[in-house]
Amino acid sequence: MSVSEQVCDACAARFSAIDAKVECARCGGLLHIEHPEPPVCSTALQALFDARLVPSRGPHGVSPHDSGVWRFRELVMPGVGDAEIVSQGEGITPLLSRPRVAQWAGAEDLLLKHEGHNPTGSFKDRGMTVALTQAKRIGATAVACASTGNTSSALASYAALAGLRGLVLVPQGKVALGKLSQTIAYGAQTLLVRGDFDDCLRLARESSEHLGVYLANSINPWRLEGQKTIIFDLLQQLRWHSPDWLVLPAGNLGNTSAFGAALREALRLGLIDTVPRLACVQAEGSAPFAASFREGFATRHTVRAETIATAIRIGDPASYDRAVRAIQETNGVVLSVTDDEILEAKAVIDASGVGCEPASAASVAGTRALVRDGTIARGARVVALLTGHMLKDPEVMLHYHRELFPAPTHANRSIEIDATLADMERVLRTAPATA
Ligand SMILES: *Cc1c(COP(=O)(O)O)cnc(C)c1O
Repeated sequence: MSVSEQVCDACAARFSAIDAKVECARCGGLLHIEHPEPPVCSTALQALFDARLVPSRGPHGVSPHDSGVWRFRELVMPGVGDAEIVSQGEGITPLLSRPRVAQWAGAEDLLLKHEGHNPTGSFKDRGMTVALTQAKRIGATAVACASTGNTSSALASYAALAGLRGLVLVPQGKVALGKLSQTIAYGAQTLLVRGDFDDCLRLARESSEHLGVYLANSINPWRLEGQKTIIFDLLQQLRWHSPDWLVLPAGNLGNTSAFGAALREALRLGLIDTVPRLACVQAEGSAPFAASFREGFATRHTVRAETIATAIRIGDPASYDRAVRAIQETNGVVLSVTDDEILEAKAVIDASGVGCEPASAASVAGTRALVRDGTIARGARVVALLTGHMLKDPEVMLHYHRELFPAPTHANRSIEIDATLADMERVLRTAPATA
């Protein structure tokens, strides 16, 4: 194989890399991408990726080398030319150590990989830069997706960069304010569907089949190629040494699948010697994957999804089979946490100065649960993925800090005062309420 191909998971049918279908034309199965072997050995590949870390940002915009996605292009879309790439420097995200968060979670060596630092504020940018590059390559004129919010923000932004028409389908009334406003302002046509996310996904798939728009959902195999780079970027930050655990929030299971694929590849190419164990964390009201895990994956469950963490409010995850493989191959685990645990974790992450959206905090809440039940050793090196920025969902955040009955543990109340020195003095005499 000298060029990349799209291959069906189910029937192994092979399609050209520039075929516009994102599902198997023969059996409807999900596609994955297979690339030709990189032309160099693992040490040379590491050196190539490391050399590109040197910032090359010039006065004429962003070079693809400034992207934490395209730095790994041999493993994402080999052979793509600089001029074809639709990029805005995504994927440059920090790996943070926050002692207060580590202490709360009970994991001494906890690091936070913060994907909320992407241009539109979530990891969805890593997939969308590749999907829109592909959309341009195949000559698409319109791109569409169903979304719990962040995918639409990313699609709207990258469609505008690429100069293509963007259409997003979101469940009416169920999308966080930050995400909805971004999508509208970036200029995508925003369709508020009377239904839930799973209805949106079905409609988007049908529209791509019958109306010829390019589908950029999480089942789009090129998006998963982009999301693999969370792993490559993280491994590079850790000097190509795997952590013991990698904990992530799980909704539609696109990321879980992409992580499984990336780790398999990194191991096979010799970029790393061991893989981390994956821990997928779902919200209790939206935990079909956790239910399947408890039964040794004997049954594929679906649920009517409910949770405050709208980004993982998904009842019938599209990438189920691949995610099962990712968990099995990494000796991983799947668990669920309550909305209250998510909100408490979020308050701790926010107050550490880092901040994240509710769904992201599930990773830290899940880390705490796994340390408590002895699955994760206290001293293990754990990386928790923060998937989105704290400004994505201001409503949930303000509600938490204003709630009175009962007042949440970490609530930080605003104080109304008169514009007098006496009032200021009174405020300064009392210690702040949050610990
Ligand atoms: C999309 C998203 C998730 C869920 O990722 P999946 O790949 O669907 O499992 C989690 N958190 C945030 C912030 C997201 O945008």
